[in-house]
Amino acid sequence: MSSSKMDKKLGKIKERLIEIVGTENVDDTTSGRLVYSYDATPNFQALPDFVVSPRTAEEVAAILKLCTETSTPVYTRGSGTNLCADTCPLKGGVVLLMKHLNKILELDKENLTITVQPGTITKEITDRVEKEDLFYPPDPSSMKISTIGGNLAENSGGLRGLKYGVTKDYAMALQVALPNGELIRTGGKLTKDVAGYDLTHLFVGSEGTLGVITEATLKLIPKPETQKTILALYQDIEAAGRSVSAIIANKMIPVTLEFLDQDTLKAVEDFAHIGLPTDAKAILLIVQDGPQEIVDRDIHKIAEICRAEQAVDVRLASSDEEAEELATARRSALSALARLKPTTILEDATVPRSEIATMVRAISDVAQKYNVRISTFGHAGDGNLHPTCLTDARDEEEMTRVEEAFAEIFEKAIELGGTLTGEHGVGVTKAPYLEWKLGKAGIEVMRGIKQSIDPKGIMNPGKVFAEHSKERLVSVQ
Ligand SMILES: Cc1cc2nc3c(=O)[nH]c(=O)nc-3n(C[C@H](O)[C@H](O)[C@H](O)COP(=O)(O)OP(=O)(O)OC[C@H]3O[C@@H](n4cnc5c(N)ncnc54)[C@H](O)[C@@H]3O)c2cc1C
Repeated sequence: MSSSKMDKKLGKIKERLIEIVGTENVDDTTSGRLVYSYDATPNFQALPDFVVSPRTAEEVAAILKLCTETSTPVYTRGSGTNLCADTCPLKGGVVLLMKHLNKILELDKENLTITVQPGTITKEITDRVEKEDLFYPPDPSSMKISTIGGNLAENSGGLRGLKYGVTKDYAMALQVALPNGELIRTGGKLTKDVAGYDLTHLFVGSEGTLGVITEATLKLIPKPETQKTILALYQDIEAAGRSVSAIIANKMIPVTLEFLDQDTLKAVEDFAHIGLPTDAKAILLIVQDGPQEIVDRDIHKIAEICRAEQAVDVRLASSDEEAEELATARRSALSALARLKPTTILEDATVPRSEIATMVRAISDVAQKYNVRISTFGHAGDGNLHPTCLTDARDEEEMTRVEEAFAEIFEKAIELGGTLTGEHGVGVTKAPYLEWKLGKAGIEVMRGIKQSIDPKGIMNPGKVFAEHSKERLVSVQ
């Protein structure tokens, strides 16, 4: 299309967007567009044509209808904290900001549910329900800034996934705006509901590629009576990995079972100054919750298992404040590491828990082989590690090695029965590898679903589905 035709088309779209949401909610200034040209993922940037902030579900639906009619790409955006370039507006079009849709609509104490708009910050939900002695467990480390819409669309995990599961396990009902302008409701406040396909869980984890979540009803559970935290210190990083598998094999399911290697520990201590044992080669941060006697019993047994697996020390947090400090320090791991080098690339290859020690060793071997600096931390109890490469995007030669190193890490995870991403999503960064996990036929099923809901391909184009898949590095069945 010639540039004058393009300008005319954009001018018409702008007029219609203003009709829907008002002038103050359509921004096409260069500065406004620049702000939303990137997200938390390094090395991806593209300018959208408009940044649009709808105030109601009906406005969202009307925008989607317009965008389908005019074949305009739409990128729904919560807080932009995703780590797979999922909100980067690669093909221009509309960034749809959820900032006005940020209300808690209902806390239903009889059905133990909370109904929220998608732009609600995750921690606001957690704090609100805890006032009523209720509990919303999913707690991505970004929970102070991420939105529930982003959590649902990425099916985010967090530090409590091992015992309580992830966002999808708490999604009961959704209102979704579809690309054709329809608003649909899925699920309900029901423990049992098998009426038709499970559309709620089709939209959860769909990374903004199918529709826009405009309301969500989430399951709540009673708040656990108490909790205790221990730190297990290791001089052998693989022994920490073995402890994770041994804890689970002994039928202990703690709430939190986090792994930090020495590099991460040092970075976090430099950042948080809380006296972490930086001379340890690795630590496990372990939390159990529940009734007092069960917590005491489990923590005692878990400490014994860690010692049997060569933990050099096991320390109990002496107060709730110390336990909270440790959890907060762990949540700051990515931010702490990001201070060390210009570019931080964090992945989340995930393996069955029994393979944690093998995966920890494999990551360290790959880092050596490609001569790149990889620090590792993560939700080890979920088999979900975050190998984090500290690098500099301006060094093209090193970036090639980084890419090769991560491809090998993905390959290894899949070889061990794992996956490319446990919680961060596919987005752009893992799209070329998705076929390694799903196979061609699996991708075709997904394409069929996408085509039937979004025939013009306006929803988050360039994400999840790769133009070209990467070749497998080795032949693995
Ligand atoms: C420091 C840090 C720590 C993190 N820790 C964790 C962690 O522990 N666990 C974890 O799982 N992730 C973690 N993340 C990743 C990220 O925070 C999560 O993916 C989070 O859910 C994204 O929320 P958001 O509001 O920022 O969404 P965005 O980044 O704005 O969007 C994410 C995706 O959701 C889509 N989307 C957003 N809103 C809607 C909607 N209403 N309807 C449909 N689609 C929508 C977007 O199009 C995009 O595809 C971390 C990120 C950072 C920077």
